[in-house]
Amino acid sequence: MFDRRALLIGGAAVGLFVGLRWLHGSDVQAAGPFEIDKSDSEWRRLLTKAQYEVLRLHHTEIPGSSPLNHETRAGTFACAACDLPLFSSETKYDSRTGWPSFYRPLPNAVGTSTDHILLMARTEVHCRRCGGHLGHVFQDGPPPTGLRYCMNGVAMKFIPATAGAA
Ligand SMILES: [Zn+2]
Repeated sequence: MFDRRALLIGGAAVGLFVGLRWLHGSDVQAAGPFEIDKSDSEWRRLLTKAQYEVLRLHHTEIPGSSPLNHETRAGTFACAACDLPLFSSETKYDSRTGWPSFYRPLPNAVGTSTDHILLMARTEVHCRRCGGHLGHVFQDGPPPTGLRYCMNGVAMKFIPATAGAA
């Protein structure tokens, strides 16, 4: 009788612990390791302060602050940290959110993880190669995917397609 009760309490405690870890753990760090793996101080040196705060600390830029919101030329949006091409201009659209938005990433460009802010689960999007945080993906995008990749412009760099090669 006593053993059984102890077992139940023990089980509940483990469950609670796991639950708390789930709520708290990995809310910012995507699962590594990544192909490009640098120390925090290296990233701090390589990136601008604004880039570092978004890519490494998962901050969100002020809406409307990125010049990439208004970028309409043909080209590629690449990771600001490791230059991996992430999105084609062909999948960019105006979501009116103040953040550069796309309905589909390039093949094998991004990874996702789940983060929890105020118990609300969101799907975090990061660079597949360096793990840098890019933004989030939501299910209220346009056809053909219905997805909205809501990106921080500061986490990306735009590479215009060269004339004639588009
Ligand atoms: Zn990257």
